Amino acid sequence: MKLPRELSEYLKKQKMKRIIPCALMQVLIALVLILWGNTIVRTDVLPFKIAVFVLMLLVPFLVTGVPFKVLQKPWRGEIIKVDIQDGVAFTSDRDKDRPHGTLTIVLTVQADDGKIVIKEIGAGTYTKVWWEPVANTKADHIVDRYQVGDRVFQLGKQYPIIVLPKPEDQHCQCAVCGRTNAIENETCEECGHTLIK
Ligand SMILES: [Zn+2]
Repeated sequence: MKLPRELSEYLKKQKMKRIIPCALMQVLIALVLILWGNTIVRTDVLPFKIAVFVLMLLVPFLVTGVPFKVLQKPWRGEIIKVDIQDGVAFTSDRDKDRPHGTLTIVLTVQADDGKIVIKEIGAGTYTKVWWEPVANTKADHIVDRYQVGDRVFQLGKQYPIIVLPKPEDQHCQCAVCGRTNAIENETCEECGHTLIK
């Protein structure tokens, strides 16, 4: 799918912000290993030494999320099912009598490339009171945000899944920060990025 130019440039920049630090860290770790590798890992067991070196060289990938966060692509699709899962989370022993309910929205989406995608969205927590039925204690307006038949869009894993506006809608959501904007806005009032409509 074609993104507004400004957004694809932004995504490119975000990717470089991960790739460059990752590459620099690799070089640094490699240098340290070349110069002081034998002092850091004092062993004559070669396979063990190699294993430690490889693990150390993997650290930059873990820290920066390369390549997984860099390879993700924007996608679009249509919601075919919405499930609300109600869970219980204890935050501490003291809270055992007042458990926190957690709501998770599970979206089943038919992506435009034909794939069926399942997406889980945390919709917040609330204090669960045992005498109150769960149906009356919805935590957040987010629960009503997604409806079957809605067209949804996401820039990548760390971005919100937004509902694309229908012709009659007065609002649209920003694909970068999630902020709700007036439909006539071209750019987001919060972060300034181009709105996708
Ligand atoms: Zn925004």
